[in-house]
Amino acid sequence: MKNLIFIAPPASGKGTQSNLLANKYNYEHISTGDLLRKEIDLKTKLGLIIKDNLSKGEQVSDNIISKILENRLTSIKKSFILDGYPRNITQVKILEKMLKRLNKKIEIIIYLNVSKAEASNRALNRLICPICNKTYQKNTDIVKPKVEGMCDICNIALVKRTDDTKETFNLRYQNFIEKTKPLLDYYQNKGMLHIINKTKTPSETFSEIEKVIK
Ligand code: AMP
Repeated sequence: MKNLIFIAPPASGKGTQSNLLANKYNYEHISTGDLLRKEIDLKTKLGLIIKDNLSKGEQVSDNIISKILENRLTSIKKSFILDGYPRNITQVKILEKMLKRLNKKIEIIIYLNVSKAEASNRALNRLICPICNKTYQKNTDIVKPKVEGMCDICNIALVKRTDDTKETFNLRYQNFIEKTKPLLDYYQNKGMLHIINKTKTPSETFSEIEKVIK
């Protein structure tokens, strides 16, 4: 399978789609948000800086996130999905050099086109497993946990992400519009961009994605 990048507003369902792809096509799912949350859990000095950024809805510095990503990518042996990186044009350039160094290639960029209202609704109803990071939605039958409030896989209580508040979502969304959305033109010009418009259910979105990767 070809390596791919998901670009989408916060809480648009790219994590859910990445997990579906990872399960069906054996992709490695690399979420920079998850990598950062792991660093926070380690309670290191770096973790404290990252925690502060995330709680304010700010992007983590390009330098910090790029080093963490390169560490992770170095050990990858199979096809991978990048979920959450690059988030600005500086990161695009860093990624291109990084891939060259690691002798890897990304050929597909998928943009999930989800409205602000829907993404906001998803953020406010999202629950996450603190162990495996699988996400659920409180208000839709399709991605609800089997037992209310518990992770289907780890059987542990789900939690709310501290940055899934209305105020922080708005800041993250603003960052997306100002810094990340311009990347679509860049990848469009390179002929790599595929746009998936919002569908009714995650499985319909998944079918659309499958058409792109096959
Ligand atoms: P996510 O799980 O993708 O919603 O990311 C959660 C938070 O992690 C974001 O709001 C940013 O604060 C931070 N983050 C994740 N990926 C990046 C990145 N590539 N560059 C800077 N900050 C990031």
